[in-house]
Amino acid sequence: MANTGDLKSLADSISSVTSPFRNYLSDLHEKYQSLTEGAVADYIPELALADPNWFGICVATVDGQVFEVGNCTQTFTIQSISKAFVYGLALEDRGRDYVNSKVGVEPTGEAFNAIVLDEGTNRPYNPMVNAGAIATADLISGQDGTERLKRMLDMFQRYTGRGHDISVPVFMSEKSTGNRNRAIAYLMLNFGMVGEKLEETLDLYFQQCSILVNARDLAMMAATLANGGVNPCTGDRALDERYVQDVISVMLTCGMYDYSGEWAYRVGMPAKSGVGGGITAVSPGKLGIGIFSPPLDAKGNSVRGVKVCEELSSEFGLHPFSVGKAKRDLAEWIAGSADIDSW
Ligand code: GLU
Repeated sequence: MANTGDLKSLADSISSVTSPFRNYLSDLHEKYQSLTEGAVADYIPELALADPNWFGICVATVDGQVFEVGNCTQTFTIQSISKAFVYGLALEDRGRDYVNSKVGVEPTGEAFNAIVLDEGTNRPYNPMVNAGAIATADLISGQDGTERLKRMLDMFQRYTGRGHDISVPVFMSEKSTGNRNRAIAYLMLNFGMVGEKLEETLDLYFQQCSILVNARDLAMMAATLANGGVNPCTGDRALDERYVQDVISVMLTCGMYDYSGEWAYRVGMPAKSGVGGGITAVSPGKLGIGIFSPPLDAKGNSVRGVKVCEELSSEFGLHPFSVGKAKRDLAEWIAGSADIDSW
């Protein structure tokens, strides 16, 4: 089914052979492919099946250029990365004031799955820990679980430009082993912080964690946030512009588990990681980064993913508080060197 888009893609991928930015990413990929630290998540058997060698880096710019190296079409479950985007949908569904009354925006030094709520307000601390993510999923509108899930999947499609499936084995495992999440949810029910349809919401939460994405999707999701909520390749609005700042702010303060402070210090890009090995990172007004590499460090972040983001941030001056001249000028490096393989 060759059409103009396919031909353009072909031309772009041929031109990518000489793309300086793509070559830079290839070198980065090669440099960190040999890093074998970290361990693949194994709290459910399906995640333990991931190949530790899988490694994809994708960068999508706000003007719609896509650069990718390595395993960028290999799918994996989005896991906690979903939390940031579902938070955006909850803000659209319920408005900021109501969402704020149910979920805080304060970082916590506790583990992501801690059974803890803010003592004063009974709110979960933020939408990136499991308590906050379950309370956020509870806010998603829809007549029943099917409609609520469909609204989530439609939202992800607006971010990535393609439809998404759920990994049924991962969902079933998350559900059957998810007693800790169930305990958190029922504690919140006890305090009236979530509604009565809690089992439906828990299923929705387990399903959102089980959505299949690839590194390119993560780059497009981040690029969409970087572009004010509009997917730079499709032109579709994925998130109301009013809420983009809210979402990327909690990504910066709470997105990288208990490494979030270090991350803000070293990398500075709002980001979210998940135990499937994905990281999505936003450079507002510039680009989105998607990385997939399953081995995780002790904090639960992809080892190679953290390294790549650190290096991209320092080389191209992507830290928002960076005041010096970047070692490499991003505009020069990416100018006219698109690597769009399949748009
Ligand atoms: N499904 C996981 C849980 O609820 C999320 C893990 C993660 O990516 O942090 O425990």
